[in-house]
Amino acid sequence: MSQSSDCIFCKIVKGEIPASVVFEDEHVMAFMDIFPIAEGHILLIPKDHYTNMLDIDLELLPHLARRLALLTRQVDKAFNVGGVMNIAANGAGAGQEIPHLHFHVIPRGRDANYGFRFPPGYREEMAPREKLESIAKKIQEAA
Ligand code: 5GP
Ligand code: ZN
Repeated sequence: MSQSSDCIFCKIVKGEIPASVVFEDEHVMAFMDIFPIAEGHILLIPKDHYTNMLDIDLELLPHLARRLALLTRQVDKAFNVGGVMNIAANGAGAGQEIPHLHFHVIPRGRDANYGFRFPPGYREEMAPREKLESIAKKIQEAA
């Protein structure tokens, strides 16, 4: 198990600071977010310290993804508000504040005043096909 000494989520894994744990096994842990956006807001993390999806061990990911789906179903069943968001911010530019990979699992109903938002008017013009094709190629080439 590899933790980082100054990481708040590693401290939770090591039991150095308290958390309300929803699920835990050898590799992952899920606990209540201390500043919940909504009742039922939880965080799922790998126990080992990875910064985000840019450095997570791909061998661990199927285990993490399976647990993400199971927790999402549990939150959906427990709160039943019509939806559940899964959010992971990768890097400060994407809004990541704690640099230990975490997936937010957050109940969300249609009228909630929080959530993933697109800018106003973003559907006014469809992107030209050639542009989409060249951007798709750029991403393929980065594999
Ligand atoms: P980020 O902005 O990095 O995606 O989200 C970090 C999340 O961690 C925030 O939702 C924040 O409320 C939560 N958080 C920050 N410090 C603690 C803590 O000490 N304990 C718990 N349980 N959650 C925390
Ligand atoms: Zn950590």
